[in-house]
Amino acid sequence: MRCKNCGLRLSEIVGDFEYRKADSSTVTIVDAPIYRCKNCNEEIVPTCVYNKVQNYIIRFTDTRIEYRKILEAEAEDMMTIKLFNL
Ligand SMILES: [Zn+2]
Repeated sequence: MRCKNCGLRLSEIVGDFEYRKADSSTVTIVDAPIYRCKNCNEEIVPTCVYNKVQNYIIRFTDTRIEYRKILEAEAEDMMTIKLFNL
């Protein structure tokens, strides 16, 4: 993926970002896999990461969430779905 400002290749890093909810309050997502441009510091949150956050915050009201927790919640959901499909 390339930076939309300067066209350089983006580096994959682990960092925090602010997610803005529909009511315009924000949630800080901690240690998420995001892309950063080393040249201009532009940051991009991948769509799949965004979608996971979106699914999580519908059910939880935390204002600061470790991305690891979101992945764990998602894994639990998958197990639940499997059980129901038996
Ligand atoms: Zn850039």
